[in-house]
Amino acid sequence: MTPISFEFYPPKTDEQRSQLDKSVARLKRESPEYVSVTFGAGGSTLSHTPETIQRLKREHDLPAAPHITCMGGSREEIRGLLKLYRALGAKRLVTLRGDLPSGMVSPGDLRYANELVEFIRNETGDHFHIEVAAYPEMHPQARDAHADLAHFKRKVDAGANGAITQYFYNADAYFRFVDDVRGAGIDIPIVPGIMPIANFSQIRRFSDLCGAEIPRWVMQRMLAYADDVQSIRAFGAEVVAQLCRRLIDGGAPGLHFYTLNLAKPTLNVLERLR
Ligand code: FAD
Repeated sequence: MTPISFEFYPPKTDEQRSQLDKSVARLKRESPEYVSVTFGAGGSTLSHTPETIQRLKREHDLPAAPHITCMGGSREEIRGLLKLYRALGAKRLVTLRGDLPSGMVSPGDLRYANELVEFIRNETGDHFHIEVAAYPEMHPQARDAHADLAHFKRKVDAGANGAITQYFYNADAYFRFVDDVRGAGIDIPIVPGIMPIANFSQIRRFSDLCGAEIPRWVMQRMLAYADDVQSIRAFGAEVVAQLCRRLIDGGAPGLHFYTLNLAKPTLNVLERLR
């Protein structure tokens, strides 16, 4: 069985916390290798990531990997977070640049994710297994695909152990990216990030922002379903399950699901995969 992992965001209200607990209880039955918790931009004091890591351990006995970003943060803040995560028993970090929150002008002490990886290695040696982000359809701010690959390599050279991709709906983009990565002499596992489709207008919005292409044939069918939520969910699960099947058959070393704290859309895909 291909290893799977689930990504959650840190809940801020009691209602969101109980939603997360319900989703985690259902998804845990799928025996994830680990789960991860995103880091809201804006610095450690505004983030609910540490308390969510603690909650997942205490309430669900799940090894959780915090995401950590450098955008807008100081070296001292990052050092404090690393200390806290070690104390909480974390062994894996998803290490990112992040994006500058609106209204914030200072990018922080470290500019790019490769600098953050280097900082973490200098501070904590080999304690953490470090995952970084990869972009089969190119990061939207990159000058071109070659520059993006060169920047990706810098993160690996700085000490990343693995990568999780931005989500995509085109398996060829992933396979081509992995070929390019191997051609550049990079041998770390590249795990596809999978975004199940439950709410199509939300996915369209996300995709515009992060540069993930929704294939025309998927888009046209989704638009034709209009407000028929049941059909959108069934078709979305079918499309994403087929994508996962192709990725597994093509040698993907794992699947990382962006759950958006909901169990059902991810479970619908996993059921079709079995
Ligand atoms: P980088 O690897 O630093 O790359 C950013 C851009 O800069 C790219 O265009 C790259 O080509 C370019 N670049 C890199 N190095 C250089 C250089 N030396 N000179 C010039 N250009 C350079 N965001 C959050 O805020 N919180 C999260 O928890 C979070 N989780 C994520 C999880 C995954 C799996 C993924 C794929 C993304 C996640 N993001 C998260 C989004 C991420 O922070 C954004 O995509 C961000 O814009 C880039 O982060 P990065 O780590 O890929 O940056």
